[in-house]
Amino acid sequence: MTPPPWDCGHSRAVLHVDMDAFYASVEVLDDPSLRGRPVIVGGTPEGRGVVAAASYEARKFGVHSAMSAARARQLCPEGVFIRPRPDRYFEVSGAIMAILRGYTPLVEPLSIDEAFLDVSGCRRLLGTPPVIAADIKRRIRAETGLTASVGAAANKFLAKLASDLEKPDGLVVIGPGEGRARIAALPIERLWGVGKVASVQLREAGCARIDDLLRLDAAWLEARFGPHVHHLRELAAGIDDRPVVPTHEAKSVGNEVTFAEDIADAAQLRTVCDELADKVARRLRADDLRARTVVLKARYPDFTTLTRSVTLPEATSGGVEIRDAARDLLEQRLGRGRRPLRLLGVTAANLVQPGEGPAAQGSLFGEPGRERNQRLDRVLDEVSGRFGPLLRRGAPPVPEPDDT
Ligand SMILES: [Mg+2]
Repeated sequence: MTPPPWDCGHSRAVLHVDMDAFYASVEVLDDPSLRGRPVIVGGTPEGRGVVAAASYEARKFGVHSAMSAARARQLCPEGVFIRPRPDRYFEVSGAIMAILRGYTPLVEPLSIDEAFLDVSGCRRLLGTPPVIAADIKRRIRAETGLTASVGAAANKFLAKLASDLEKPDGLVVIGPGEGRARIAALPIERLWGVGKVASVQLREAGCARIDDLLRLDAAWLEARFGPHVHHLRELAAGIDDRPVVPTHEAKSVGNEVTFAEDIADAAQLRTVCDELADKVARRLRADDLRARTVVLKARYPDFTTLTRSVTLPEATSGGVEIRDAARDLLEQRLGRGRRPLRLLGVTAANLVQPGEGPAAQGSLFGEPGRERNQRLDRVLDEVSGRFGPLLRRGAPPVPEPDDT
């Protein structure tokens, strides 16, 4: 494909790279007999899991991520249901991010399978943004066997919107100065930050298309929606000044489990919580990250979902610290009522890399138990398969939905 031209030489240039049906595509890559078939990664239809990703063949049946696996089976009886393999997805993700960092250090991963790149400074060396975008697609395909969709534009909002317009295997360029006209007629839901509730309210107010936000009176909109509406109006005008902030990892590391049957037993929930926390801590250590905040997520049988978080006195990747924090949240913060749960998740957030944030030699340095704990962590990291047993016993881990 010949990349379209990019006329203006001096504006900012941002790419958004988004893998196509990522988890499902990795499964097809590893098992070519799945190619062309409707592949659905997530929980089993017999259990209570949800769809984490669906191949494009499965999407033709109306299957999409976050739908219950049972519903997916109804829509697509011949679907091939596959349990997620998060470790494999992280491995492939690492290879993709490494490719992206070969173009510029200004890479901001948004999730396991998408990232922004600021290529403003790369043009002399690498060519125009569309040329770089095409080259990235080619290299990802050559080195991983997977396809990516890429959007090229003058800012993050437009680049992200563009990458989604011609999936899969798309390359959409919104040139400098073209943004406002290109997005004018798109539905309001395409605006970044407009969720279901906002979309209903905006449509009631007469904003069905993006340019309706600019057509209606600004003061009237503010009276109705508050000052946040000005940010939406800027996006509608194709304006977005947010910088690409390079980070080396996704902003949080988490694991969650949807149970095959609701669990009410406190001891059993504690065990699950410990396993999830251990796995999170292990991933932090593998990526040389530490977390300041531990988040617990719990979903009840009626689907109400609670999250509770605690910020630790210092960043840590220690299994003991993260396990204690998660357990504390489980027992003290969610404790009342002891209702059964259908899902439990532990996430480490507010991550710091080596050399960032307060150093590890904080107030706890020298505390006798600490060094022993760290030694124990290192030993545990070397024991393979340690995290399998509970999760394999009919409670598959369901990664966050891959929504594209
Ligand atoms: Mg994707």
